[in-house]
Amino acid sequence: MKVEENIPLAPYTTFHIGGPARYFTHIQTVEELREALAFAKKKELRVFVLGGGSNILIDDAGFDGLVLKIELGGVEIKKEGEHAVVVAGAGEHWDALVERAVTEGLWGVENLSGIPGLVGGAVVQNIGAYGQALSESLEWIEALDTHSGEVVRFSNKECAFDYRDSFFKHDAGRHAVLRAALKLSTEPKPNLSYQDLKTRFTLSRVEGFADASLNLGAIREAVLDIRRGKFPDLSVEGTAGSFFKNPILSKVEAKKLQERYPELPLFDMPETSGVKVPLAWFLDARHGVFNIQTMRVGGARLFEKQPLVIVAQKKSSSAGVQRLAHEVQKQIKEKIGIDIEPEVRILQK
Ligand SMILES: Cc1cc2nc3c(=O)[nH]c(=O)nc-3n(C[C@H](O)[C@H](O)[C@H](O)COP(=O)(O)OP(=O)(O)OC[C@H]3O[C@@H](n4cnc5c(N)ncnc54)[C@H](O)[C@@H]3O)c2cc1C
Repeated sequence: MKVEENIPLAPYTTFHIGGPARYFTHIQTVEELREALAFAKKKELRVFVLGGGSNILIDDAGFDGLVLKIELGGVEIKKEGEHAVVVAGAGEHWDALVERAVTEGLWGVENLSGIPGLVGGAVVQNIGAYGQALSESLEWIEALDTHSGEVVRFSNKECAFDYRDSFFKHDAGRHAVLRAALKLSTEPKPNLSYQDLKTRFTLSRVEGFADASLNLGAIREAVLDIRRGKFPDLSVEGTAGSFFKNPILSKVEAKKLQERYPELPLFDMPETSGVKVPLAWFLDARHGVFNIQTMRVGGARLFEKQPLVIVAQKKSSSAGVQRLAHEVQKQIKEKIGIDIEPEVRILQK
Protein backbone atom coordinates (compact mmCIF):
# COMPACT_ATOMS: atom_id res chain seq x y z
CA MET A 1 0.00 0.00 0.00
CA LYS A 2 1.37 3.38 -1.04
CA VAL A 3 0.12 6.54 0.65
CA GLU A 4 0.46 9.79 -1.31
CA GLU A 5 0.26 13.30 0.11
CA ASN A 6 -1.60 16.46 -0.95
CA ILE A 7 -3.44 14.89 -3.86
CA PRO A 8 -6.01 17.13 -5.66
CA LEU A 9 -9.44 15.54 -5.29
CA ALA A 10 -11.27 17.55 -7.97
CA PRO A 11 -10.25 15.14 -10.80
CA TYR A 12 -11.67 12.25 -8.77
CA THR A 13 -15.14 13.80 -8.70
CA THR A 14 -17.76 14.62 -11.32
CA PHE A 15 -18.11 18.17 -9.93
CA HIS A 16 -14.41 18.69 -10.78
CA ILE A 17 -14.04 21.17 -7.93
CA GLY A 18 -12.71 21.23 -4.36
CA GLY A 19 -9.32 21.02 -2.68
CA PRO A 20 -6.75 18.27 -2.03
CA ALA A 21 -6.59 15.27 0.29
CA ARG A 22 -3.87 15.41 2.96
CA TYR A 23 -3.32 11.66 2.37
CA PHE A 24 -4.61 9.46 -0.45
CA THR A 25 -4.29 5.78 -1.31
CA HIS A 26 -5.67 3.34 -3.90
CA ILE A 27 -7.36 0.22 -2.45
CA GLN A 28 -7.29 -2.90 -4.62
CA THR A 29 -7.42 -5.61 -1.93
CA VAL A 30 -8.97 -6.09 1.49
CA GLU A 31 -5.45 -6.37 2.90
CA GLU A 32 -4.56 -2.92 1.52
CA LEU A 33 -7.71 -1.58 3.11
CA ARG A 34 -6.71 -3.01 6.50
CA GLU A 35 -3.18 -1.55 6.15
CA ALA A 36 -4.58 1.87 5.21
CA LEU A 37 -6.88 1.82 8.24
CA ALA A 38 -3.93 0.95 10.49
CA PHE A 39 -2.00 3.90 8.98
CA ALA A 40 -4.92 6.23 9.69
CA LYS A 41 -5.28 4.94 13.23
CA LYS A 42 -1.59 5.45 13.95
CA LYS A 43 -1.71 9.04 12.65
CA GLU A 44 -5.17 9.67 14.18
CA LEU A 45 -6.60 10.62 10.80
CA ARG A 46 -10.21 10.76 9.68
CA VAL A 47 -10.91 8.41 6.80
CA PHE A 48 -13.10 8.96 3.72
CA VAL A 49 -14.11 6.10 1.42
CA LEU A 50 -14.22 7.37 -2.17
CA GLY A 51 -15.98 5.61 -5.02
CA GLY A 52 -16.53 7.30 -8.38
CA GLY A 53 -16.96 10.74 -6.75
CA SER A 54 -20.30 11.28 -8.50
CA ASN A 55 -22.33 12.04 -5.39
CA ILE A 56 -19.97 14.22 -3.40
CA LEU A 57 -18.87 17.83 -3.22
CA ILE A 58 -15.39 18.45 -1.82
CA ASP A 59 -14.84 21.64 0.17
CA ASP A 60 -12.40 24.16 -1.35
CA ALA A 61 -10.12 23.55 1.64
CA GLY A 62 -9.93 19.84 0.77
CA PHE A 63 -9.92 17.00 3.32
CA ASP A 64 -7.49 16.78 6.19
CA GLY A 65 -7.54 12.99 6.54
CA LEU A 66 -6.90 9.86 4.46
CA VAL A 67 -8.93 9.21 1.30
CA LEU A 68 -9.36 5.54 0.39
CA LYS A 69 -10.02 5.28 -3.36
CA ILE A 70 -11.90 2.00 -3.73
CA GLU A 71 -10.70 -0.08 -6.70
CA LEU A 72 -11.83 -3.55 -5.60
CA GLY A 73 -12.70 -5.33 -8.83
CA GLY A 74 -14.19 -8.60 -10.05
CA VAL A 75 -17.53 -9.78 -11.42
CA GLU A 76 -18.96 -13.32 -11.07
CA ILE A 77 -22.24 -14.45 -12.59
CA LYS A 78 -24.01 -17.65 -11.54
CA LYS A 79 -27.17 -18.55 -13.45
CA GLU A 80 -29.66 -20.69 -11.52
CA GLY A 81 -32.92 -21.38 -13.40
CA GLU A 82 -34.96 -18.23 -13.66
CA HIS A 83 -32.41 -16.22 -11.75
CA ALA A 84 -28.78 -15.25 -11.78
CA VAL A 85 -26.70 -14.00 -8.91
CA VAL A 86 -24.19 -11.36 -9.95
CA VAL A 87 -21.44 -10.63 -7.43
CA ALA A 88 -19.40 -7.49 -8.14
CA GLY A 89 -16.51 -5.77 -6.41
CA ALA A 90 -17.27 -2.35 -4.91
CA GLY A 91 -14.80 -0.73 -7.32
CA GLU A 92 -16.54 -1.95 -10.49
CA HIS A 93 -18.15 0.77 -12.60
CA TRP A 94 -21.89 0.60 -12.07
CA ASP A 95 -22.87 1.24 -15.67
CA ALA A 96 -20.40 -1.33 -17.01
CA LEU A 97 -22.08 -3.85 -14.70
CA VAL A 98 -25.51 -2.90 -16.04
CA GLU A 99 -24.24 -3.25 -19.59
CA ARG A 100 -22.87 -6.70 -18.75
CA ALA A 101 -26.20 -7.76 -17.17
CA VAL A 102 -28.07 -6.57 -20.26
CA THR A 103 -25.69 -8.47 -22.55
CA GLU A 104 -26.18 -11.62 -20.44
CA GLY A 105 -29.97 -11.27 -20.75
CA LEU A 106 -30.49 -10.48 -17.05
CA TRP A 107 -33.40 -8.27 -15.95
CA GLY A 108 -33.61 -6.01 -12.91
CA VAL A 109 -31.14 -3.14 -13.32
CA GLU A 110 -31.65 -2.03 -16.95
CA ASN A 111 -33.58 1.12 -15.92
CA LEU A 112 -30.52 2.08 -13.84
CA SER A 113 -28.44 2.40 -17.01
CA GLY A 114 -26.13 5.39 -17.32
CA ILE A 115 -25.80 6.24 -13.63
CA PRO A 116 -22.21 7.27 -12.95
CA GLY A 117 -20.18 5.91 -10.04
CA LEU A 118 -19.13 2.54 -8.69
CA VAL A 119 -20.93 -0.46 -7.23
CA GLY A 120 -20.08 0.45 -3.59
CA GLY A 121 -21.42 3.99 -3.98
CA ALA A 122 -24.55 2.64 -5.67
CA VAL A 123 -25.27 0.47 -2.60
CA VAL A 124 -24.66 3.32 -0.12
CA GLN A 125 -26.97 5.65 -2.07
CA ASN A 126 -29.51 2.98 -3.02
CA ILE A 127 -29.53 4.47 -6.50
CA GLY A 128 -32.78 4.74 -8.34
CA ALA A 129 -34.11 5.92 -11.68
CA TYR A 130 -37.02 5.39 -14.05
CA GLY A 131 -39.07 3.38 -11.58
CA GLN A 132 -36.29 1.01 -10.47
CA ALA A 133 -34.11 1.04 -7.33
CA LEU A 134 -31.01 -0.98 -6.57
CA SER A 135 -32.59 -2.25 -3.33
CA GLU A 136 -35.12 -4.24 -5.42
CA SER A 137 -32.43 -6.55 -6.79
CA LEU A 138 -29.78 -6.46 -4.08
CA GLU A 139 -29.36 -9.80 -2.30
CA TRP A 140 -26.49 -9.09 0.12
CA ILE A 141 -23.35 -7.02 0.50
CA GLU A 142 -20.06 -7.63 2.24
CA ALA A 143 -18.33 -4.81 4.08
CA LEU A 144 -15.24 -4.35 6.18
CA ASP A 145 -16.03 -3.18 9.69
CA THR A 146 -13.35 -0.50 10.00
CA HIS A 147 -13.43 -0.75 13.82
CA SER A 148 -12.97 -4.51 14.19
CA GLY A 149 -11.29 -5.27 10.82
CA GLU A 150 -13.82 -8.10 10.26
CA VAL A 151 -15.62 -8.76 6.98
CA VAL A 152 -19.35 -8.68 7.70
CA ARG A 153 -22.23 -9.76 5.46
CA PHE A 154 -25.47 -7.71 5.41
CA SER A 155 -28.70 -9.11 3.99
CA ASN A 156 -30.92 -6.80 1.94
CA LYS A 157 -33.03 -6.19 5.06
CA GLU A 158 -29.99 -5.37 7.18
CA CYS A 159 -28.96 -2.71 4.65
CA ALA A 160 -32.12 -0.79 5.76
CA PHE A 161 -32.70 0.66 2.29
CA ASP A 162 -35.01 3.58 1.80
CA TYR A 163 -35.41 6.31 -0.82
CA ARG A 164 -31.75 7.26 -1.69
CA ASP A 165 -30.80 5.91 1.71
CA SER A 166 -29.21 2.92 3.43
CA PHE A 167 -27.78 1.87 6.77
CA PHE A 168 -24.30 2.86 5.50
CA LYS A 169 -25.22 6.53 5.18
CA HIS A 170 -25.76 6.70 8.92
CA ASP A 171 -22.90 4.64 10.33
CA ALA A 172 -20.33 7.48 10.30
CA GLY A 173 -18.15 5.64 7.76
CA ARG A 174 -17.79 2.54 9.94
CA HIS A 175 -18.31 0.08 7.07
CA ALA A 176 -16.51 0.04 3.73
CA VAL A 177 -18.52 -1.91 1.17
CA LEU A 178 -16.33 -4.58 -0.46
CA ARG A 179 -18.72 -6.36 -2.82
CA ALA A 180 -22.39 -6.68 -3.60
CA ALA A 181 -24.59 -9.53 -4.85
CA LEU A 182 -27.56 -8.81 -7.10
CA LYS A 183 -30.31 -11.29 -7.85
CA LEU A 184 -31.44 -10.73 -11.42
CA SER A 185 -34.05 -12.48 -13.52
CA THR A 186 -33.52 -14.44 -16.73
CA GLU A 187 -37.27 -14.00 -17.40
CA PRO A 188 -38.33 -10.71 -19.05
CA LYS A 189 -39.61 -8.23 -16.45
CA PRO A 190 -39.88 -4.87 -18.18
CA ASN A 191 -40.60 -2.00 -15.79
CA LEU A 192 -42.31 0.79 -17.69
CA SER A 193 -43.84 2.49 -14.67
CA TYR A 194 -41.98 5.71 -15.47
CA GLN A 195 -43.96 7.91 -17.83
CA ASP A 196 -41.11 8.78 -20.24
CA LEU A 197 -40.34 5.10 -20.82
CA LYS A 198 -43.99 4.09 -21.07
CA THR A 199 -44.52 6.74 -23.72
CA ARG A 200 -41.65 5.43 -25.81
CA PHE A 201 -42.61 1.79 -25.70
CA THR A 202 -46.36 1.61 -25.51
CA LEU A 203 -48.29 4.81 -26.02
CA SER A 204 -46.58 6.36 -29.00
CA ARG A 205 -44.76 4.22 -31.50
CA VAL A 206 -42.45 7.01 -32.48
CA GLU A 207 -38.76 6.70 -33.28
CA GLY A 208 -39.07 3.02 -34.04
CA PHE A 209 -39.80 2.08 -30.41
CA ALA A 210 -42.72 -0.33 -30.79
CA ASP A 211 -43.88 -3.04 -28.36
CA ALA A 212 -41.98 -5.58 -30.42
CA SER A 213 -38.66 -3.99 -29.48
CA LEU A 214 -39.34 -4.19 -25.75
CA ASN A 215 -36.18 -6.07 -24.91
CA LEU A 216 -33.33 -5.41 -22.52
CA GLY A 217 -31.10 -3.72 -25.06
CA ALA A 218 -33.90 -1.45 -26.27
CA ILE A 219 -34.80 -0.44 -22.73
CA ARG A 220 -31.18 0.35 -21.90
CA GLU A 221 -30.83 2.43 -25.08
CA ALA A 222 -34.07 4.29 -24.34
CA VAL A 223 -32.95 5.09 -20.78
CA LEU A 224 -29.54 6.28 -22.00
CA ASP A 225 -31.23 8.42 -24.63
CA ILE A 226 -33.65 10.01 -22.13
CA ARG A 227 -30.75 10.67 -19.74
CA ARG A 228 -28.68 12.40 -22.43
CA GLY A 229 -31.36 15.11 -22.59
CA LYS A 230 -31.53 15.53 -18.81
CA PHE A 231 -27.95 15.83 -17.60
CA PRO A 232 -25.15 18.18 -18.60
CA ASP A 233 -22.15 17.03 -20.58
CA LEU A 234 -19.63 16.18 -17.85
CA SER A 235 -16.72 17.03 -20.11
CA VAL A 236 -17.95 20.63 -20.20
CA GLU A 237 -19.48 21.27 -16.76
CA GLY A 238 -19.36 19.56 -13.38
CA THR A 239 -22.28 18.15 -11.39
CA ALA A 240 -23.20 15.41 -8.96
CA GLY A 241 -26.64 14.83 -10.48
CA SER A 242 -29.71 15.74 -8.41
CA PHE A 243 -28.36 17.86 -5.59
CA PHE A 244 -31.47 17.53 -3.41
CA LYS A 245 -33.67 14.63 -2.40
CA ASN A 246 -37.32 14.94 -3.29
CA PRO A 247 -39.13 15.55 -0.01
CA ILE A 248 -41.32 12.76 1.39
CA LEU A 249 -44.38 14.16 3.14
CA SER A 250 -47.26 12.57 5.01
CA LYS A 251 -50.44 12.12 2.96
CA VAL A 252 -52.11 14.96 4.88
CA GLU A 253 -49.23 17.43 4.31
CA ALA A 254 -49.00 16.46 0.63
CA LYS A 255 -52.75 16.98 0.13
CA LYS A 256 -52.51 20.46 1.67
CA LEU A 257 -49.70 21.31 -0.71
CA GLN A 258 -51.75 20.07 -3.66
CA GLU A 259 -54.63 22.32 -2.58
CA ARG A 260 -52.25 25.29 -2.95
CA TYR A 261 -50.78 23.97 -6.21
CA PRO A 262 -53.53 21.89 -7.89
CA GLU A 263 -51.29 20.88 -10.81
CA LEU A 264 -48.57 19.45 -8.53
CA PRO A 265 -48.13 15.71 -9.20
CA LEU A 266 -47.61 13.46 -6.16
CA PHE A 267 -46.13 9.96 -6.02
CA ASP A 268 -47.12 7.38 -3.40
CA MET A 269 -44.19 5.66 -1.72
CA PRO A 270 -45.75 2.37 -0.55
CA GLU A 271 -42.59 1.35 1.31
CA THR A 272 -42.71 4.46 3.54
CA SER A 273 -46.47 5.17 3.48
CA GLY A 274 -45.42 8.73 2.60
CA VAL A 275 -45.84 10.73 -0.58
CA LYS A 276 -42.94 11.91 -2.76
CA VAL A 277 -43.16 15.54 -3.86
CA PRO A 278 -41.25 16.24 -7.09
CA LEU A 279 -39.18 19.26 -6.14
CA ALA A 280 -38.30 19.90 -9.78
CA TRP A 281 -41.96 20.79 -10.42
CA PHE A 282 -41.63 23.91 -8.22
CA LEU A 283 -38.35 24.87 -9.86
CA ASP A 284 -39.71 24.40 -13.39
CA ALA A 285 -40.10 27.91 -14.87
CA ARG A 286 -43.37 26.88 -16.60
CA HIS A 287 -45.12 26.62 -13.22
CA GLY A 288 -44.24 30.18 -12.25
CA VAL A 289 -43.30 29.44 -8.61
CA PHE A 290 -39.57 30.23 -8.83
CA ASN A 291 -37.39 31.88 -11.40
CA ILE A 292 -34.29 29.68 -11.47
CA GLN A 293 -32.48 32.19 -13.67
CA THR A 294 -32.06 34.28 -10.52
CA MET A 295 -30.72 31.32 -8.54
CA ARG A 296 -27.05 31.60 -9.47
CA VAL A 297 -23.92 31.98 -7.37
CA GLY A 298 -20.56 32.48 -9.07
CA GLY A 299 -20.21 29.75 -11.68
CA ALA A 300 -22.94 27.58 -10.12
CA ARG A 301 -26.54 27.40 -11.30
CA LEU A 302 -29.56 25.11 -11.46
CA PHE A 303 -29.55 23.12 -14.70
CA GLU A 304 -32.25 24.36 -17.06
CA LYS A 305 -33.31 20.90 -18.30
CA GLN A 306 -33.46 19.37 -14.81
CA PRO A 307 -33.50 21.99 -12.06
CA LEU A 308 -32.74 19.60 -9.17
CA VAL A 309 -29.29 19.32 -10.71
CA ILE A 310 -26.70 21.91 -9.70
CA VAL A 311 -24.04 22.47 -12.34
CA ALA A 312 -20.75 24.26 -11.82
CA GLN A 313 -18.52 25.75 -14.46
CA LYS A 314 -14.94 24.53 -14.58
CA LYS A 315 -12.70 26.31 -12.06
CA SER A 316 -15.67 27.62 -10.04
CA SER A 317 -15.64 27.18 -6.28
CA SER A 318 -17.17 24.60 -4.01
CA ALA A 319 -18.21 27.51 -1.73
CA GLY A 320 -20.33 28.89 -4.59
CA VAL A 321 -22.16 25.57 -5.00
CA GLN A 322 -22.73 25.35 -1.23
CA ARG A 323 -24.06 28.94 -1.09
CA LEU A 324 -26.42 28.23 -3.99
CA ALA A 325 -27.65 25.05 -2.28
CA HIS A 326 -28.37 26.99 0.94
CA GLU A 327 -30.19 29.66 -1.05
CA VAL A 328 -32.42 27.05 -2.74
CA GLN A 329 -33.16 25.42 0.64
CA LYS A 330 -34.01 28.83 2.14
CA GLN A 331 -36.30 29.89 -0.72
CA ILE A 332 -38.14 26.53 -0.77
CA LYS A 333 -38.70 26.81 2.98
CA GLU A 334 -39.93 30.41 2.77
CA LYS A 335 -42.23 29.96 -0.20
CA ILE A 336 -43.40 26.33 0.01
CA GLY A 337 -42.87 25.71 3.72
CA ILE A 338 -40.94 22.45 3.38
CA ASP A 339 -37.44 21.45 4.44
CA ILE A 340 -35.33 19.88 1.75
CA GLU A 341 -32.06 18.02 2.29
CA PRO A 342 -29.10 17.43 -0.01
CA GLU A 343 -28.69 14.03 -1.67
CA VAL A 344 -25.05 14.92 -2.32
CA ARG A 345 -22.52 14.35 0.51
CA ILE A 346 -20.48 17.50 1.25
CA LEU A 347 -17.00 16.59 2.43
CA GLN A 348 -15.59 19.28 4.72
CA LYS A 349 -11.97 19.67 5.73
C1 LIG B 1 -24.76 13.13 -14.19
C2 LIG B 1 -25.18 12.36 -12.96
C3 LIG B 1 -26.37 11.65 -12.98
C4 LIG B 1 -26.80 10.94 -11.85
N1 LIG B 1 -27.97 10.24 -11.92
C5 LIG B 1 -28.40 9.54 -10.84
C6 LIG B 1 -29.63 8.81 -10.89
O1 LIG B 1 -30.32 8.77 -11.90
N2 LIG B 1 -30.00 8.12 -9.78
C7 LIG B 1 -29.25 8.11 -8.64
O2 LIG B 1 -29.65 7.47 -7.67
N3 LIG B 1 -28.08 8.79 -8.57
C8 LIG B 1 -27.64 9.50 -9.64
N4 LIG B 1 -26.47 10.20 -9.57
C9 LIG B 1 -25.70 10.22 -8.31
C10 LIG B 1 -24.53 9.21 -8.24
O3 LIG B 1 -24.10 8.85 -9.52
C11 LIG B 1 -24.89 7.94 -7.46
O4 LIG B 1 -25.33 8.27 -6.17
C12 LIG B 1 -23.70 6.97 -7.37
O5 LIG B 1 -24.17 5.73 -6.94
C13 LIG B 1 -22.58 7.42 -6.43
O6 LIG B 1 -21.53 6.45 -6.53
P1 LIG B 1 -20.02 6.85 -6.42
O7 LIG B 1 -19.22 5.60 -6.52
O8 LIG B 1 -19.68 7.93 -7.35
O9 LIG B 1 -19.97 7.37 -4.90
P2 LIG B 1 -19.12 8.58 -4.30
O10 LIG B 1 -19.66 9.87 -4.82
O11 LIG B 1 -17.68 8.31 -4.44
O12 LIG B 1 -19.52 8.45 -2.76
C14 LIG B 1 -20.85 8.71 -2.32
C15 LIG B 1 -20.97 8.29 -0.84
O13 LIG B 1 -20.83 6.87 -0.75
C16 LIG B 1 -19.73 6.52 0.08
N5 LIG B 1 -19.08 5.35 -0.54
C17 LIG B 1 -18.68 5.21 -1.82
N6 LIG B 1 -18.17 3.97 -2.02
C18 LIG B 1 -18.24 3.33 -0.82
C19 LIG B 1 -17.86 2.04 -0.35
N7 LIG B 1 -17.31 1.13 -1.16
N8 LIG B 1 -18.08 1.74 0.95
C20 LIG B 1 -18.64 2.63 1.80
N9 LIG B 1 -19.01 3.88 1.42
C21 LIG B 1 -18.82 4.22 0.13
C22 LIG B 1 -18.83 7.74 0.10
O14 LIG B 1 -18.05 7.77 1.28
C23 LIG B 1 -19.84 8.87 0.02
O15 LIG B 1 -20.38 9.12 1.30
C24 LIG B 1 -26.01 10.93 -10.67
C25 LIG B 1 -24.80 11.64 -10.66
C26 LIG B 1 -24.38 12.35 -11.79
C27 LIG B 1 -23.08 13.07 -11.76
